[in-house]
Amino acid sequence: MGASRFDVVVVGAGIVGLATARELLERQPRLRLAVLDKEAVVGAHQTTHSSGVVHRGVYYEPGSLKARLCVEGAERVLAYCDERGIPVRRCGKVVVATDGTEVARLDELHRRALANGVPGALLIGPERLRELEPHVAGIRALHSPETAVVDFALVAAALADDVRAAGGEILLAHEVVGLTSLQQTVARPGERARVVVGVVVGTTSAEVEADRVVVCGGVFADRLAALSGAPPEPAIVPFRGDYVVLRPERRHLVNGLVYPVPDPVFPFLGIHTTVRPDGEVWLGPNAVLALAREGYRRRDVSLRDVGDTLRSRGFRRLARRHWWIGAGEMARDLSLRLFVASARKLLPGLEAGDVLPGPSGIRAQALAPDGTLVDDFVFHEAEGVVHVRNAPSPGATSALAIARVIADRVSGAHAAGQLP
Ligand SMILES: Cc1cc2nc3c(=O)[nH]c(=O)nc-3n(C[C@H](O)[C@H](O)[C@H](O)COP(=O)(O)OP(=O)(O)OC[C@H]3O[C@@H](n4cnc5c(N)ncnc54)[C@H](O)[C@@H]3O)c2cc1C
Repeated sequence: MGASRFDVVVVGAGIVGLATARELLERQPRLRLAVLDKEAVVGAHQTTHSSGVVHRGVYYEPGSLKARLCVEGAERVLAYCDERGIPVRRCGKVVVATDGTEVARLDELHRRALANGVPGALLIGPERLRELEPHVAGIRALHSPETAVVDFALVAAALADDVRAAGGEILLAHEVVGLTSLQQTVARPGERARVVVGVVVGTTSAEVEADRVVVCGGVFADRLAALSGAPPEPAIVPFRGDYVVLRPERRHLVNGLVYPVPDPVFPFLGIHTTVRPDGEVWLGPNAVLALAREGYRRRDVSLRDVGDTLRSRGFRRLARRHWWIGAGEMARDLSLRLFVASARKLLPGLEAGDVLPGPSGIRAQALAPDGTLVDDFVFHEAEGVVHVRNAPSPGATSALAIARVIADRVSGAHAAGQLP
């Protein structure tokens, strides 16, 4: 029996892959499309292990993909949640400077927030901060009143329903193990050229063929890129983030999202508070090098994953330059007391007994060969395959906007090689 043939195959049923599939089917209702995922359920990884914050674009360099797609994506995902009856908690967020050294960086964030058009972003003093968050210590803060929280698992499930309702197939337990382009030689005036006419997608269940493939593989983005002959860099280095949960009787310590001023070199460091849609309050996540790309527990180790991390030029440079930051995060990971002590900088009334161990997530963080974290979203196209190479936070917020960009590419709205 021959391989099933589709117009488009999307690899990865996380929020980005599902949003892309939905967008493509909305544009071309007759498209034969399949989404493949190695897991038995959709959204099994980053999508269901995030803080659930619908970011509004406070942090990102104006003009960057993150800035543009986060602002657009937030509007779109909030509208989608309203349309689909998915609960949204509009709790707002404060980024808090606790001492004078952080004020200049906070002012820079305010400048970015204004440039990015973050709705309602305002610098506030300690009195207003006390009104919003009476238990938080700070000398100045940036208030983003429209930052919200949702359960991205519900968003992913709704997107998957839309894909199926529009005639798309979602093939679970299909791990992609090969991406081979089908090429043909065509005669053009004065030349003969090789053109890609399709892609064979090898999976652990069955082989499928597609005219175009989009890969949204999260923490495996680099390996899937290498399968299709794309460059292995940027490499993905997995960072585990653990949360702790406030005991229900201490939830009154926090009303909304409270963030420290980020370190510009490691923007994802710094424990923040998240009020979940159901009212639970989480503190975290920290950021510790994970020894397995999908190892949610400290004891999970994959020799292949550790080997890939250690072989990555970017990681070796990062580790040489910033080993003490990594050591600090590891210490905080092993000691709940240290974890709480860091959070106490923002919440001085917090005690070690106020928290219980919580869930963990693994971030897919792309690293450049020089050891810098790749900050912006990265898309790349080669041999009939569009790869999402880096979609860290605010990737869930931005998913519907990322989907638009990829769908433009797949439907040929941009000239070849013009992926933003
Ligand atoms: C701790 C943490 C907190 C975060 N907080 C936020 C937040 O508050 N707000 C926000 O906007 N973003 C947040 N993010 C980021 C957000 O979760 C991601 O940007 C987003 O989920 C990326 O979606 P994705 O579909 O690209 O990846 P994923 O959800 O990881 O999906 C990738 C999919 O690809 C599949 N796959 C991989 N390899 C293969 C293969 N070989 N064959 C078949 N399938 C394969 C996987 O099974 C998986 O389902 C957070 C992330 C983490 C980890």
